[in-house]
Amino acid sequence: MESASPSATIRRRGVMLVLSSPSGAGKSTIARSLLENDHEFELSVSVTTRPRRPSEIEGVHYHFKTQRDFEMMRDGGDLLEWAEVHGNCYGTPRGPVERAIAGGRDMLFDIDWQGAAQLREKMPDDIVSVFILPPTMKELLARLTRRAEDTPEIIERRLRNAHHEIEQWRDYDYVVINDDLDRAFASVRAIVSAERLRHERRPGLEDFVAGLLAERPE
Ligand code: 5GP
Repeated sequence: MESASPSATIRRRGVMLVLSSPSGAGKSTIARSLLENDHEFELSVSVTTRPRRPSEIEGVHYHFKTQRDFEMMRDGGDLLEWAEVHGNCYGTPRGPVERAIAGGRDMLFDIDWQGAAQLREKMPDDIVSVFILPPTMKELLARLTRRAEDTPEIIERRLRNAHHEIEQWRDYDYVVINDDLDRAFASVRAIVSAERLRHERRPGLEDFVAGLLAERPE
């Protein structure tokens, strides 16, 4: 039997992929496609005090918490990062991230710029961050309205916050303009493919290269 190819078996650390964007830029659609098409990724399911939308499932999209429970998790050190976004609290549970890193698995974070900044500070070698921009503000409003799961007041608030969020784009490793969903998705996949090949992320290369150099082909 032939042994598995070295490129597939060399041990590597997981890619901690952060996707951020203003609400309505298409980030959640890109995140969903990535999870469906790339089974090496696992989603970091955040905790939030935001009320559940009709289409959302507890434990799949978020862990929905009361303010009190959220604060208990935060104060007990159970959150790797947390932030207030559009008037609600959101945070990343620590346990699943630590397990993914230890197991060399990739993890996807759909979090805002404040959370991205905290993770970058805590795990500078693991985080790859991508900012998704809408093609125009008009399109952003159209997408927010089309979702039809939020009240006009909430949509208005999210649009107002979008300016400040977009201003954070320079802090990200990569910026993708979502003018065409397929193209934007392909760009995110290309980023992931390249990041998985970084030698800093592949400690197994040491042994592989040592083995290569020790070979004496006739
Ligand atoms: P939404 O209410 O539309 O699901 O999310 C609102 C914003 O909160 C989005 O920008 C989303 O990325 C961000 N968000 C979701 N979970 C987290 C989290 O755990 N931490 C931080 N900092 N932001 C989050």
